Amino acid sequence: MQTNFNQQQLTLPAIASSEVELRACLQCDYCTPNCPTYKLLGDEYDSSRGRVYLIKELLESEGKPLQKTVDYIDRCLSCLACMSTCPSSVHYQHLLDHARESIELRHQRKPLDRLSRWLLAKLLPYPNRFRLAMQTAKILKPAASMLPNPIRGMVEYTPDRLPPPSPNDEPQVFPAKGERKRRVALLTGCAQRALNTDINDATIRILCRHGCEVVVAQGAGCCGAVTHHMGKSKESLMAAAKNIRAWMSEIDGDGLDAIVINTSGCGTVIKDYGYMFRNHSLASQAETIAGLAKDVTELLSEMELDYRVKPGLRISYHATCSLQFGQRVRFTPRRLLKTAGFTVLEPRDSHTCCGAAGTYNLLQPEISTRLKENKLKALEAGSPSAVAAGNIGCMMHLMSSSRIPVVHTVELLDWVTGGPIPSSLNDIQSEAG
Ligand code: SF4
Ligand code: SF4
Repeated sequence: MQTNFNQQQLTLPAIASSEVELRACLQCDYCTPNCPTYKLLGDEYDSSRGRVYLIKELLESEGKPLQKTVDYIDRCLSCLACMSTCPSSVHYQHLLDHARESIELRHQRKPLDRLSRWLLAKLLPYPNRFRLAMQTAKILKPAASMLPNPIRGMVEYTPDRLPPPSPNDEPQVFPAKGERKRRVALLTGCAQRALNTDINDATIRILCRHGCEVVVAQGAGCCGAVTHHMGKSKESLMAAAKNIRAWMSEIDGDGLDAIVINTSGCGTVIKDYGYMFRNHSLASQAETIAGLAKDVTELLSEMELDYRVKPGLRISYHATCSLQFGQRVRFTPRRLLKTAGFTVLEPRDSHTCCGAAGTYNLLQPEISTRLKENKLKALEAGSPSAVAAGNIGCMMHLMSSSRIPVVHTVELLDWVTGGPIPSSLNDIQSEAG
């Protein structure tokens, strides 16, 4: 696609990188049939091709962004399905990140939208604050219908049961059982620590049982994804820099073979640290960290797992967008579940987003709900006992309307290799035999 940046704009590294991507776009439309918002809304500008064109106009202009451009960019799920069919390898993820950063700097949002985004950025990345906010939201739940959206959505989404903080999420070292074969750092995350502590517990157990020493590094926390996707790049880089420093000090100490991530949304961002820090003093360390980052299923697939339980359950696998498109980890989780003895159902439209998409379900509730309803119909077809997924955001989103339990893939793998059955599957334990 032709671009019209002036020479001064092209001296800016971010514009120079985006120009390369924009010029690579053939406007061929191969990406559009995969775009969930286009399929739902039928508007050309709600497709990936349309958005690439809008991003070009947004970045070329130096004035205030048009409201319609902001709306179309806000409606993008960041699912990255469009990247999977692009013949020209346009890095839409980087273009979108740049557009969101530019909107954040140049656009004044309406007060309620600003407040909601500020709240999300100040609460979600901090487990203690987030836990406190959810406890308050639980009290407000009966009056939720009187609150304005998206605050109302935030309150309604609060689960009825919240786990207490887990001591396992604090900085420490979990020794390998038996001979130490690997030393790995685990990202215990932020929102996940407040919403579901079972996932990190299961990850630590299965890794330790299979010869990993697991480190929860001092100083590591939110990966930066929450603020990154809202275009708040300063906050996001600050959070990411803390992780880079924390994990580098482990590398410089006893060394690390991998950085393990069990929230695929975070994994996609951490694997992109090299690009995010390309013009920063931490560039080479960021590259090192990105190179060591692995989804937990990638790491488990390198190991010989010791199966102890024959589960015999039918599981519907939800391929999260961040895992299948953001990280291109498509078949590994399914393969692990099948090898473990689960019957894995392949739901239709497995490439279509469930609508969770980070904070999208709170900021764009209508589209998100329609996508969730479609996704649950597909996942629940074939009468599975449970849905398995690899990202807490998608799990919570689906769980809010699912008729069957939604569990993390690693909880199932931990169970069949000697850990406890996931608590939500207790009722069907007898079926498991
Ligand atoms: S498939 Fe790629 S090249 Fe074609 S319109 Fe979409 S982004 Fe552009
Ligand atoms: S990221 Fe997803 S929603 Fe956004 S343009 Fe690409 S396919 Fe469409």
